[in-house]
Order: sequence, then C-alpha cells, then structure tokens
Amino acid sequence: MRIVLLGAPGSGKGTQSQRLVERLGIPQVSSGDLLRAAVARGTELGRRAKEAMDGGRLVDDSLVLQMIRERLGEGDTRRGFILDGFPRTLAQAEALERLLRDLTQPLDAVVQLEVDAAELVRRISGRRCCADCGRVFNLFTSPRTAIESELCPKTGAPHRLTQRPDDNEVTVAERLRVYEEKTRPLIDFYRARGLLRVIDATGNVEEVSRRLSQALGAPALRAARAAKSATRRAPHRTGARRKAAQPKSARRRAKSAAGRAARRGKARAGLRVNTRGKSPRTTRAGQGRPKGKPR
Ligand code: AMP
Repeated sequence: MRIVLLGAPGSGKGTQSQRLVERLGIPQVSSGDLLRAAVARGTELGRRAKEAMDGGRLVDDSLVLQMIRERLGEGDTRRGFILDGFPRTLAQAEALERLLRDLTQPLDAVVQLEVDAAELVRRISGRRCCADCGRVFNLFTSPRTAIESELCPKTGAPHRLTQRPDDNEVTVAERLRVYEEKTRPLIDFYRARGLLRVIDATGNVEEVSRRLSQALGAPALRAARAAKSATRRAPHRTGARRKAAQPKSARRRAKSAAGRAARRGKARAGLRVNTRGKSPRTTRAGQGRPKGKPR
C-alpha cells in the first residue's frame, strides 16, 4: 500500500506510521526524520535546511523533493510506503503525483488525522524521542519512569529521552500557523482525487490505530499483511528448492532440452555423442572406433 498521513504537528502521524510499519512491513518515509538526520550528519542538505527547521518554517520545496525522490528510489519502497510529513505544500503534492505516475505507483489512500489545536499543543509539549532508536513517546500518556524502564532495541540500555529543539512554545505556534496556511489546502487537493479519508485522531493510540485501520479498509490491510507474510515465507529458490518447486513434467522437458543443447555444442566442437546409452558418453571424432569397422 502507498499511503500518505496528513495532519498538523502533534497529530500522531509519526506514532501511527510506526505502528503501520510493524503491521504491514512497508517503510515509513518521514521527511522530518530525513531532514533531522541530514542536519545531524552535517550534510549540505542539512546545512541548508537547519535554519528553516529551527524557526518552524518549511524547508524549500526543491530540497525536500530531491530528498524524497531519492528515498522513494530505494528498493524497500517497491512494495509500498507510508509518507509522514510529506507532502506539505501544493507544489509538493503535485510533484509527488507526477513522480508516482512516472513510477506507475499511484497512491492508495491519504488519511487526515484531525486533532484540535489545544490538544496538539499539549501533545507536542509532552513529546520525547529516544536519542538512540528514535521511538516517540509522550509524557502525558506514559510516565517517564515507565518509558525509561523499557530497553532501547538499538543500545540494549534504557531509552534516552530527548526533546526536539523545535518542540518549544514559540516554534510550535509558527509550525501550526504554517500548517494552516500551506498544508491544510492539501485536504481539498486529495478529496478532489477521491483519495481522502478523515479520522478523529484524539483519544489513545490504540483507538486511533483502530480508526486508521477502518479508514484504510480492512480488506486492503489484510491484502497488504498477506503480501508481507508471503514475502517472508517465499523460499530463496536456488538449487534443490527451485528443482522441488518445478512440476515433474517441466523438469523432464528441461532435462531433455539441456541434453539436446549439450549434444549440439559437443557436435560443433568435434565430439561425437553417444545417445544410446543411459548416460551420454562422448568420444573424440575418429577415436574409440575399432579399426576397419565402418560406422
Ligand atoms: P516534522 O518532524 O514532520 O514535524 O518536521 C520537522 C520540520 O522539518 C518542519 O517544521 C519543517 O521545517 C521541516 N519539514 C519536514 N517535512 C517537510 C516538508 N515536507 N516540507 C518542508 N519542510 C519540511
């Protein structure tokens, strides 16, 4: 499935994406995470994105688009992906539409996560991420002691909780303003294409997950999960396994075709082929024949 999760900062796109990743086995493509990683690595992209990010503004469309194009070109997105935080402007949505048309991989659904402004601010102020594995937690729903008693899958030590630098009061206000101005228009863009589903994203994570599953359609989710487990089960067909997977008649046909090809090759190389015996024996032309006996 190819899914876009739309919603204001703090609406739970990241949390719900992570849950879909586990259920469907398709990757989450988060433009915010990719940009933060570029900033942390000190790349050219990170250097150019940092100022806008620190101020709660959007990074240039051209930079973000280049980054997303490269990410969607990676092999793990072939079976689908969850876009989180992208697109955020009409120009990005139009460019995404063109890119996916060229790849013949159109979107299946766009889900808008609706949360009121007061709840968004409350959630963002309680949001913490593990500095090592990147998992997102919220101090309002899980107490710090409970979170820190869990082990980080990356380090094996307790999660190290950090707050994003742009999750402060001033920047959050700007991010919410930018969302209303630049991103909200995408709701109509996707509604016009018949892709939009809107869910109430208030309540606990489980409830929102359930609503999201309903919005994506249980049959579509079942198909995506089946594709995930089929990929896991599919044997790596080499040697004996490939042979066992072929019907007997096909094996017999392949064997005699191979035999014919080998005989043709040997004849061309000046070897005579004995086809009478069970296992073909080859003799150099003119050799091995009793003298005086015509062939
Ligand atoms: P997020 O983690 O999605 O809240 O994104 C954090 C910051 O990264 C945003 O406030 C923007 O500065 C930048 N950003 C993320 N995604 C985009 C995007 N699609 N277009 C422009 N800027 C973005």
